[in-house]
Amino acid sequence: MPKSTSNMQLPPPLGRDAALFLDFDGTLVGLAPTPEAIEIPPALVSLLSDLSDQLGGALAVVSGRQIDSIDRFLAPLRLPAAGEHGVQRRDATGHTQEQRAPDLAPILEIANELARVHEGLLVERKHAAIALHYRLAPQLEAVCQDAMSRAIANNPQLELMHGKFVFEVKPAGVNKGIAIDAFMTEAPFAGRTPVFLGDDTTDESGFSVVQPRGGIAVKVGSGPSLALHRLESPRAVYEWLVQARDLLAAPKAEAANTKADADAPQESPRSPE
Ligand SMILES: [Mg+2]
Repeated sequence: MPKSTSNMQLPPPLGRDAALFLDFDGTLVGLAPTPEAIEIPPALVSLLSDLSDQLGGALAVVSGRQIDSIDRFLAPLRLPAAGEHGVQRRDATGHTQEQRAPDLAPILEIANELARVHEGLLVERKHAAIALHYRLAPQLEAVCQDAMSRAIANNPQLELMHGKFVFEVKPAGVNKGIAIDAFMTEAPFAGRTPVFLGDDTTDESGFSVVQPRGGIAVKVGSGPSLALHRLESPRAVYEWLVQARDLLAAPKAEAANTKADADAPQESPRSPE
């Protein structure tokens, strides 16, 4: 389990040499009662597009969602992305790799039966995972955990992951940290400083990869974490990203201003800003 860090602080400004990895739900967008009910901040897509350009394309979404779902919410933007915690991964050239799906039929049957008996549970079938969401019935946490733990008990190829109000059965040995490591071996990520923002326990594997590489891990919201930096909410993430975009844009603007000043006649009035 991650340790709580008492001296967590705000992340430093994003460097031009960063490789930026962003979780989606709870980090870029607020959590909602169901995965489909999230609301995308109006300017988020153009903000991510600008940042991607400024970082030479070294910006990826690293999510538990399927890549199709991320694309749908960020359309028309199609960023490099890891979906289902890394089961799917689309690199910067647009090439997607996807692990083969394990046999999930017995798991799906158990989850569906649970959802039939108890109101408020939502079963989500992904390519290689089954997610059992209990956000609308938080009192059922133990019931869900017990059923899903037993469902995978005799199958070492599967692993149970516990996120915010969700239990997810997925292939063992897949996590966001491994996905980030894979991006870091490829252009345009390789050689850059990894920065990862995430809000959930499933993001800790990513934090554990970026910090030993000299990168920056940012926990979003409350709760214990390995991350040494923290932003309090998706709203704070948004504002930090806006500031990053503006700072990354500034040197060029200053350079342009300096040239304009040099070229301008001496008596030309200077702008106060
Ligand atoms: Mg999240």
